[in-house]
Amino acid sequence: MIPVLVLNAGSSSLKYQLIDMDDRSVTASGLVERIGEDAGRLEHRTPDTEPLVEEGKIPDHGAALDRVLAAFERTGGLAEAPFVVGHRVVHGGDRFSGPTVVDDDVLAEIRDLVPLAPLHNPANIAGIEVARSRFPDTPQVAVFDTAFHASMPPRAWRYALPRALADRLQVRRYGFHGASHAYVARQAAEHLGRPLAELDLVTLHLGNGASATAVAGGRSVDTSMGLTPLGGLVMGTRSGDLDPGIIAHLHREGGLDLDEIDGVLNKESGLKGLAGSNDLREVHRRADAGDADAVEALEVFCYRIRCTVGAYAAALGRLDAVVFTAGIGENDADVRARVCGGLAVLGVRLDEARNAARSREVRTISSDDSAVAVLVVPTDEELEIAEQSLAVVRANG
Ligand code: AMP
Repeated sequence: MIPVLVLNAGSSSLKYQLIDMDDRSVTASGLVERIGEDAGRLEHRTPDTEPLVEEGKIPDHGAALDRVLAAFERTGGLAEAPFVVGHRVVHGGDRFSGPTVVDDDVLAEIRDLVPLAPLHNPANIAGIEVARSRFPDTPQVAVFDTAFHASMPPRAWRYALPRALADRLQVRRYGFHGASHAYVARQAAEHLGRPLAELDLVTLHLGNGASATAVAGGRSVDTSMGLTPLGGLVMGTRSGDLDPGIIAHLHREGGLDLDEIDGVLNKESGLKGLAGSNDLREVHRRADAGDADAVEALEVFCYRIRCTVGAYAAALGRLDAVVFTAGIGENDADVRARVCGGLAVLGVRLDEARNAARSREVRTISSDDSAVAVLVVPTDEELEIAEQSLAVVRANG
C-alpha cells in the first residue's frame, strides 16, 4: 500500500480522499462541512461500509481533521501515517510552478500570497498546518491550482495596465483549475493513442466554477480565468469576463461600494444572476418550462464557451481535440451540443448518439469524419494531486 491523503480545505469545509497509489484505488473519501458553525457535519465513505455521518459543532480545521482521523479508525484504512499528504492550494502566484514539498519557508510564501486569494489560501494554510501537526514525519506537498498555467507566455498573461502598477500588485493572469486541466489533457492523449507532446487541445472544465485552457504539447498556453477565479466563462454565481468599466459604473451610478460589487460579481451573477439558479439542471428545467430568462441564460453560457474555443483554436494555430469535463462538461449533452454546434467552422462534428450516451468512461463524442476530436473525460483532481505529490516526494528522494 502507498497511502496518499489528499486534503482540499475550504474556508468552512475539508474535503479529503485517501488513495492507495499502488493501484490508484480510493480507500476512503469524505467531506467535513460547516466548520466553525453550530451544526457541523462529517460524511465519511469507504467502498465497503455504509457512509458514516456525524453531526455537531466542529470548531476549526484541526478538530475537523481529528474527526476524520477518528472516522478512519472506526472504518479502517489508515493504520499508519500516510506516505504523503497532498494539499490543494488555490494560489501559487508567480512563485510556484509545480508541486512543492512544504517547509516553513514555503508555508510563509503561501501566506504571502493571501492578498491574491483572500478567501482560499488561508483555508489551505490551515489544512497544511493541522496535517503537519498530526503527521509531523509525513511529507506535505502543496499542489497549486495556478501551477499548470505557469507555462503561459507573457502575451497571454500580461494585462495592458501600467507596468509598474501591475508589477507592484502582482496583477497578471494566473489561471486556475490546473490539476483538472492537466489531468484531462493527459487522459485525452491516452484515449487518442497519441503523445501529449504532439497535441493541441482545448480543455473545458465546466462545473460550478468554469474555465477553458489552450493546451499545446501538454503545456498551458492560455486560460480563461485571470488574477482571480472570477474571470473568463460564465459560471454558477460568477460573472466571468466583463467590460472593466462596469465596475466604476456600478459604483458611481448604482452606489455599490467595492465589497458589494465584489459580492455581486462572485456570488450573485453568472447563471444565478441570469436565471435565478446556479445549478444548470435547474436552469434547464426552467427553460423547458418556458422561462425566457433561463432560455437566454443557457444561450449566454454556451455562446461564451463557444467563442472561447474559437479564440483558443486561433491561439494554438491548430486544434486536435476539444475536451469536456466537470459536472456540466461530463453530464450535460445539451451544453456540449450547443457549444460544438457553433464550431463547424473549425471542422468540429458531433455524433448525436455518442453525445447523448451516458457513461463514466473517457469517450469520443465526435463523428468519425470530424476534423477535430471531441472528448468527454471525467476529471479527478484528487488523483492528480496525489500523483503530483507522490512524484515530487520521490524525485526529492
Ligand atoms: P461541479 O462543480 O463540477 O460539481 O459541477 C456542478 C454543475 O454541474 C452544476 O451546475 C450542476 O447542475 C451540473 N451538473 C451536475 N450533474 C449534472 C447532470 N447530471 N446533468 C447536467 N448538469 C449536471
